Amino acid sequence: MLICTTIASLRNALRHQPPFDKKLGFVPTMGALHQGHIQLVNACSNTATFTVASIFINPTQFNDPADFARYPKSLEQDIDMLEKAGCDLLFIPTVQEMYPDGLQEQPSYNLGPIEILLEGKYRPGHFQGVCVVVHKLLSLVRPGLLFMGQKDFQQCMVVSRMLEITRLPVEMKMIPTVREPDGLAMSSRNRRLTPMQREIASAIYQQLISIKAQYKHADLRLLEKEAAAALLEAGFSSVDYVSIANARTLQPLPGYLPTVGCVVLVAAYLGAIRLIDNLPLVS
Ligand code: AMP
Repeated sequence: MLICTTIASLRNALRHQPPFDKKLGFVPTMGALHQGHIQLVNACSNTATFTVASIFINPTQFNDPADFARYPKSLEQDIDMLEKAGCDLLFIPTVQEMYPDGLQEQPSYNLGPIEILLEGKYRPGHFQGVCVVVHKLLSLVRPGLLFMGQKDFQQCMVVSRMLEITRLPVEMKMIPTVREPDGLAMSSRNRRLTPMQREIASAIYQQLISIKAQYKHADLRLLEKEAAAALLEAGFSSVDYVSIANARTLQPLPGYLPTVGCVVLVAAYLGAIRLIDNLPLVS
C-alpha cells in the first residue's frame, strides 16, 4: 500500500488513473478504524480495481473544539488494517496541506432543509464542513465511486446533495451499518466508553428494534418519546433526538404510510460521548 501525505505525492501516485473512472474507488475516513470502515474498504475493492482511502480528522466539521481535540487516533493500527484489507493507496494529509489558507474562509453549499434538521440542528456548521472536506478530497482523488456508511445516514444524504450541486461525476455507494454482537453500531467514539457505558450503549439498538416492531400501529411521536425515556432510564445522560422520519427528506413522519420510505434516527450522550445510530424501517 502506497502512503501519501502531500497533495503533490498523491497526484503523482494517481497520474495513470483516468479521472472519475468507476475503476477508482475512494473511502474517506477520520481514522481510528474499525470493522465498519473495513467493510467500506472491502466493498470498494470488490467493485473497483484501485482503492484509495484517506485518514484526515477534519477540523471544519467539528463544532466542538474539545470533541476535535479528543478524537481518537491509532495511525499505526489503521495502516495495518488497511493494508490487510487490500487498500492500494492511503492519503494522510495534514491540516496545513488541506487548508493552506487557514480554516476561516470556506465555500458554502446550499443543502436545503436537511442542513438544519437532526444532526444539523445539534451540530451547526457540521455538514458544511463535511461538504468542504469531501469536495476537496474528491477533487484531489477524482474517484468514480465513493463509499460511505449508512451509520451516518444524514451525512450520506448531504454528500449526495453536494455531488448534485457540484456536478462531480462521482457515484456514491451507501454501505449498511456494521454492528457489534449486541447491536451497538461500530464507531471510533466507542473506544472512549467505560466498560459500564459500553454495556449501556446497546440500549440504542434495542430502542431502534423496538420502534421497528411497533411503528406501523403506533403514534410515532409517542414512540419517539418512549424511546428517549427508555434511553435515559438505561443510563444515557441525555438524548438529542429520537426521530421517525421520511427517509428522503428527514422530516418527521406524521404516521406510517406504506408508500413512504421511513427511517428512525437517534443521537444521545453517554457522559461526554455522543453516539448516533439509525435503522431504515422497511415496510
Ligand atoms: P468516520 O471515520 O467516522 O468519518 O467514518 C468514515 C466512514 O465510515 C463514513 O462513511 C462512515 O459512515 C463509515 N462508518 C463509520 N462507522 C460505520 C459502521 N459501523 N458501519 C458502516 N460504516 C461506518
